[in-house]
Amino acid sequence: MSKKALQVAAVRGTRDLWPSELSKQLHVTKALASVASRYGFGPVQTPTIESTDLFHRSLGDGSDIVMKEMYTFQDNSQNSLTLRPEGTAGVIRSLISSGLQYNGPHKVFYQGSMFRYERPQRGRYREFQQFGVEHIGSAGPSTDVDVISLARDCLQEIDLLDRVSLEINTLGCHESRLRYRKVLEEFLEKYRADLSIDSQQRLDRGSVLRVLDSKCDNDQRILESAPRLQQHLSDAARQRFDDVQGGLAALGIASNLNDGLVRGLDYYSHTVFEFVELKPETGAKGIAVLAGGCYDDLVALLGGPATPCVGWAAGIERLCLLSTQQPPSPTMIAVVPIAAGDSATVTAVRHHALRVAKALRDKGHTVHVCDGSSMKKQMKMADTFQCSFAVLLGEDELHNDTATVKHLHERQQHVVPLPELAAYFKPSALP
Ligand code: ATP
Ligand code: MG
Repeated sequence: MSKKALQVAAVRGTRDLWPSELSKQLHVTKALASVASRYGFGPVQTPTIESTDLFHRSLGDGSDIVMKEMYTFQDNSQNSLTLRPEGTAGVIRSLISSGLQYNGPHKVFYQGSMFRYERPQRGRYREFQQFGVEHIGSAGPSTDVDVISLARDCLQEIDLLDRVSLEINTLGCHESRLRYRKVLEEFLEKYRADLSIDSQQRLDRGSVLRVLDSKCDNDQRILESAPRLQQHLSDAARQRFDDVQGGLAALGIASNLNDGLVRGLDYYSHTVFEFVELKPETGAKGIAVLAGGCYDDLVALLGGPATPCVGWAAGIERLCLLSTQQPPSPTMIAVVPIAAGDSATVTAVRHHALRVAKALRDKGHTVHVCDGSSMKKQMKMADTFQCSFAVLLGEDELHNDTATVKHLHERQQHVVPLPELAAYFKPSALP
């Protein structure tokens, strides 16, 4: 009995990346890593799966991620595991389990897949790539400024500075937030019935500050007259934030104070920020491309000593969506064996072509071997690979120790002695 072939579709919200797109992602990631290295950050890698507990404790049970977006499953030993929805919790878990929290500061960057069960749309996927940095164990406004400056330089490196705006806010210290949470709750309770269901649920869960994050227009209208966290900051928290803004100004980094910016996770405190897309025609704000802030309580929350931290993460797909920068592409050369004659000659020409291709690659050139059943098909292949040159190798060339080089964008060709072939393709040696 024959089995009917069944086509299996990719999982909703996931993507397959082929060279044209993946090369751009890799180019962007490399650019960010190189800027982070200049700031003294080193690479770190943690697992994609973590114990579910890690995210309940770090992100908070009331966060959207924990409430609605996690990919959680039981393994065969009945352990509850979660595909990481973000990178910071894993890095801090790793720091503590390796005992590294006592010999900081640590400055690390990471890159990899994150998973969130969200409604797929422009720049929003269920598996997506983040590049993030964490500055662990060094307190103070200058560290915040340095980390924001790193974010800015990363965006500059991929030509995105004029496509984004920096939004910044402070969540203050514990006491500031406690005070503010109380007055905000009193205010919101008065409007409870008019708030969106999402915001009402946030109130029920005690996640009062997250209501400020609401994407619902009516909620935002109600919030216009809400009390501001800025008015409830302790003197020390206000001073700290003034120093951050002063530091940014000293570096010429423009920022907008956005007192509705709260970030959706429990672990943030003090400075929070986002670089958001600026729509070219209207100047309207679009999607967030990079976001982060201070998270001074997270290390303690996960069982370590109180440790000040600041970091950010950027969505690689969103950066690629906005950046028009293309990865450099090398000049492609097609090596084309012209196989005619008896089978011994055909084999000799084919082997010769493979050797010539290898010699060119050894000298740093990018080479496609375009073998095939006809010259027409071989030249079509060279065209598909977007080659600029074809190195034609037939029986004559084999005997004369030469190659016929065809310029595929111009109508010209040259016979080149084989020992000079690699140098022929060096830009300075081109005729
Ligand atoms: P948003 O408000 O767009 O949902 P977020 O606040 O949930 O973003 P963060 O948790 O701060 O996002 O993650 C940092 C960055 O990761 C975001 O600024 C964005 O660029 C990217 N990102 C977040 N969620 C997704 C997703 N589902 N698909 C693609 N990129 C994402
Ligand atoms: Mg989100």
